Amino acid sequence: MPLLVMKFGGTSVADLDRIANAAEKVKREVMRGYDVIVIVSAMSGKTNELVGWVETTSHLYDAREYDAVVASGENVTAGLMALRLQEMDVPARSWQGWQVPINTTSAHSAARFVSIPRANIDAKFAEGFKVAVVAGFQGVSEEGRITTLGRGGSDTTAVAFAAAFGAERCDIYTDVDGIYTTDPRITEKARKLDKIAFEEMLELASLGAKVLQTRSVELAMRYKVRLRVLSSFEDTDDNSGTLVCDEEDIMESKAVSGIAYSRDEAKLTLVTVEDRPGIAAAIFGPLADAGINVDMIVQNISEKDYEGRTVAVTDMTFSCPINQVARAKKAMEDARSKGSINYDDLVVDTDVAKVSAVGIGMRSQSGVAARMFAALAAENVNIKVIATSEIKVSVLIDRKYMELAVQALHDAFGLEKA
Ligand code: ADP
Ligand code: ASP
Ligand code: MG
Repeated sequence: MPLLVMKFGGTSVADLDRIANAAEKVKREVMRGYDVIVIVSAMSGKTNELVGWVETTSHLYDAREYDAVVASGENVTAGLMALRLQEMDVPARSWQGWQVPINTTSAHSAARFVSIPRANIDAKFAEGFKVAVVAGFQGVSEEGRITTLGRGGSDTTAVAFAAAFGAERCDIYTDVDGIYTTDPRITEKARKLDKIAFEEMLELASLGAKVLQTRSVELAMRYKVRLRVLSSFEDTDDNSGTLVCDEEDIMESKAVSGIAYSRDEAKLTLVTVEDRPGIAAAIFGPLADAGINVDMIVQNISEKDYEGRTVAVTDMTFSCPINQVARAKKAMEDARSKGSINYDDLVVDTDVAKVSAVGIGMRSQSGVAARMFAALAAENVNIKVIATSEIKVSVLIDRKYMELAVQALHDAFGLEKA
C-alpha cells in the first residue's frame, strides 16, 4: 500500500470540530487508497499550559518530570483522533511514543531519535487498520522515561515517520496555507512561496520561523522526504501549499528570500573579564554543560588600569533563549565562585529580539548586510549585535522594534513581488 504521513498542528486540532475536520482530510486519503500515519500535536495552548504548571511547581525543574507532564497533551488528541476516525468507519488506533516505540536519546526536552522500529505499526496495517494515529513530540529513552523533542517537535516526529516508513510524502497541515517570505501575521505583504529550498527553510526555521521545527527540515533533507506545508482549514489538493525541495528545483534566485524573527532572545554581558588564552573556553564550557543554547557572541577587548598596571580586559556578550537565562546566570555564578572565571558584573537584557534575512542567493550577491543595516537605520532601529553566515545576516535589536524591522526588511529586499 502507498503510505502518507499527515501531521496536524495545535490549531488544527484545537477542539472537537477541528479534530473532525482533520479526520475528514485523513479519510479522503484513505478513500484514495493510502495507508496513513497521522501525527498529532496537543490542542493549541495545551502545551503552554502544561509548561506553565511545571514552572510554577518547580523553578529549576527535573527535566524528566517536565517531559512526563508536557508530553501528555499529545496523548489526548491522538486518542480523540482515533475515536473520531472509528466513528467515520475508518479502522484506526492511537499510539503513544513508547508503544511504537519511538526510541530517543535521554536528552530531556531536546531528545533525538535513536530508532523507530516499524514492526508494531506494520503488523496493525497488515491486520486491516488503515490509520495509525501517533502522538507527536514524544518518545521514550533507553532508561524507559518519557522524552520530548523540543517545542514544535511534532513536525520532526512526522518527518521521521515519513522516512522510517518510506512515505510518498509528508504533509504538514497547519493554520497558514504554506510557507511565506515572512510570517504572514507580521505583514500582509508576505508572499506565499510554491517551493523553498531545504537549506533556506533550515536557516529560516533555526532563526525563528516556527512554521517548521528546524530538526524536521534537517531530517527531511537527509532522508530525502518530500515535505509539504499546507492549510488544514481550506480545501486542499495535490498541488496545495509549499513544497520544501532541493535547490536545483527552484527558479527564483533573489539575494534574500525570507525574513525570520525570534522574540524569545536574551542578551547577557559579562563585564570586565580578564583577556587571556582560555577565557572563552572557561565561560562557554560551563554554559554548554548547563545545556544553554548560546547563539550570538561578541567580544570587545579594551585596556583597563588595574592596581597601577594596564591590563587587557574584555566584555563578553552572548545571546541565548530567554527561558535559559536563569540557568545561564547560575552557570556563570558557579564558575565565578569556583575561581575559573572572574567578572565585575553580569548584565542581562531580556527586551531584545533577533531579526534575520535569509537567502541562498547571498552566496553570489554582495552588499546584503549593508542594505539591511541601511533599511534599519532609516527606521531609526539601533543594532545591538550582528551575526552573519554564508546565507544569513542576523541582528539583535530592542524587541519593541521587531515588527517594524521585519516589515522594513521585507520592503527593502522587495519580497512582496515574485
Ligand atoms: P502548528 O501548531 O500547526 O505546528 P505553528 O504555530 O507551530 O503551527 O506554525 C505555524 C505558524 O508559523 C503560522 O501561524 C505563522 O504565524 C508562523 N510563521 C512564522 N514564519 C512563517 C513563514 N515564513 N511562513 C508561514 N508561517 C510562518
Ligand atoms: N505540542 C508541542 C508544542 O506546542 C509540539 C508541537 O505542537 O509540535 O511545542
Ligand atoms: Mg508547530
